[in-house]
Amino acid sequence: MFFFFVGGLQQEVRQVLKSAVGKCTYCGNSVDLVNSDKVLKLFFVPVWQWPAKDPLYHCSYCKNFFPYNYSLPATMEETLLCRICERTVEADFRFCPFCGSEL
Ligand SMILES: [Zn+2]
Ligand SMILES: [Zn+2]
Repeated sequence: MFFFFVGGLQQEVRQVLKSAVGKCTYCGNSVDLVNSDKVLKLFFVPVWQWPAKDPLYHCSYCKNFFPYNYSLPATMEETLLCRICERTVEADFRFCPFCGSEL
């Protein structure tokens, strides 16, 4: 966070709708889908607060927000199907965690 100004509009997380829905393009950590509030601050004091219309992606590590229609590099959606036991395995696995066969 940078504080170049004494007042301004900030976005703050109100509620996490779904955690670890994708990967942050800045730091690679998992991002959450959140409902957020827009907060107007004057000399670091919140003077007005109202809920944002759309849910946003938020990285809790680097504190960046991404718009809901932003296509994040997928983590959870990317899966493989094991040829041997036919269970879904995350794409970055090299071996099936269930049966140990190479993917
Ligand atoms: Zn991040
Ligand atoms: Zn398997």
